[in-house]
Amino acid sequence: MHYDLVVIGGGPAGMMAAATAAQKGLQVLLIEKNEKLGKKLYITGKGRCNVTNYGDMEDFFDNIVTNKKFLYSALYTFNNYQLVELLNNLGVKTKIERGSRVFPESDKSSDIIKGFERYLKKSRVDIRYNNAAKKILTKDNRVTGVLLKNNEQINCNNVLIATGGMSYQHTGSTGDGYQLAGELGHTVIEPKPALVPLVTGESWVKELQGLTLKNVTATLTAGGKTVASKFGEMLFTHFGVSGPIILSLSSLLNKNARSEVKLFIDLKPALSDEQLDQRIQRDFRKYINKQVKNALNDLLPKRLIPVIIKLTGLSSKVVNQVTKKERLTLVHTLKSLQLTVTGTRPLNEAIITSGGISTGEINPSTLESKLVQGLYFAGEVIDVDALTGGYNLQIAFSTGYLSGKSAAEKTKGKLGL
Ligand SMILES: Cc1cc2nc3c(=O)[nH]c(=O)nc-3n(C[C@H](O)[C@H](O)[C@H](O)COP(=O)(O)OP(=O)(O)OC[C@H]3O[C@@H](n4cnc5c(N)ncnc54)[C@H](O)[C@@H]3O)c2cc1C
Repeated sequence: MHYDLVVIGGGPAGMMAAATAAQKGLQVLLIEKNEKLGKKLYITGKGRCNVTNYGDMEDFFDNIVTNKKFLYSALYTFNNYQLVELLNNLGVKTKIERGSRVFPESDKSSDIIKGFERYLKKSRVDIRYNNAAKKILTKDNRVTGVLLKNNEQINCNNVLIATGGMSYQHTGSTGDGYQLAGELGHTVIEPKPALVPLVTGESWVKELQGLTLKNVTATLTAGGKTVASKFGEMLFTHFGVSGPIILSLSSLLNKNARSEVKLFIDLKPALSDEQLDQRIQRDFRKYINKQVKNALNDLLPKRLIPVIIKLTGLSSKVVNQVTKKERLTLVHTLKSLQLTVTGTRPLNEAIITSGGISTGEINPSTLESKLVQGLYFAGEVIDVDALTGGYNLQIAFSTGYLSGKSAAEKTKGKLGL
């Protein structure tokens, strides 16, 4: 059997690319090495799938961390509003939540996958499960076919790599695309973890394992310079810190020197130093004869108090013994709780892979390789990544659409159709 296009990888990017190309008249085969489609998509958004973001394009580009200009064409050709419309047409109702995050109305990621399965069927895309692409075959720098793991050869004019990144490898994203494209001369920018929990040096974080802090501001510094600040929710773990604002900051860390990385947590961002001091003085007057550890219950989560008083040297003090200097140290600690970042959790635990196929070797208007004719890329396999909020899935769908459309238009153009 000869195909116009073979799409490697049945994640969001590959499903979208395959259906788009088939809708435009190509004979398409989708190869997925798992027994089913969209295994990573299934676990997105804690099983609810934050499928895109309903913000405007400016907001979108503000949330793309790596190679935003490269994505202009893809995002303008198929944007977030078009994705929502497509989902609705596929029978998947959506809803918008805080921060313009879009979810399926059912809160089930499986509904998104089912919607795409219907789309692929309707578009007459052939699907091959349980078999991985092993090699892309070329002649004179032109795609001629794909060799599967079982050594079966499939002849085709175009191949689209949509194999994803390298994290949560049990879902099938094991970095195969880097090897497939690397063998054809493509440069692979070192894959690194992004949107990943941070490991810290301080041993006291273990005592706080499982504690979530809401409405705090975390500021990341590298080499003494501020990288970024984020307001929201974070979480202490047995190795360091995690949670939405920490994951976002971790992505920005990749662009900065890894030396001397620190995290400063403002536990009371709504109060200035002076206001917090006045607040503590009020509490101290109320609990004047109590131990300090029993005087902070109105201000801090219970589990945080022993850590804070240890860090400020107030463990054994009674409130009426606390000097002004000690009180100001307490204020400073609450406004700027310091953590030393010693690294990130491994790539396999990252929400997204930063790095991948170099964008310099891909035409941004078509997503075709500049090195091999008939070779296309879509999704996380490319060196692009964004923050949380639905942006990464939209990138997968937008690049999937543009690459599928380009492959179809080029093929049809060549055939004079
Ligand atoms: C826990 C978690 C939660 C997330 N939540 C969100 C969220 O709510 N919103 C959001 O925007 N993003 C989220 N993301 C990120 C999002 O899932 C990815 O950006 C997106 O899935 C990338 O799509 P993709 O199609 O490029 O790759 P993938 O989804 O990784 O799909 C690649 C597919 O290719 C297949 N494959 C790989 N190699 C081969 C081969 N050699 N032959 C055949 N098939 C192959 C794999 O089996 C896989 O099915 C989350 C990620 C994780 C890990």
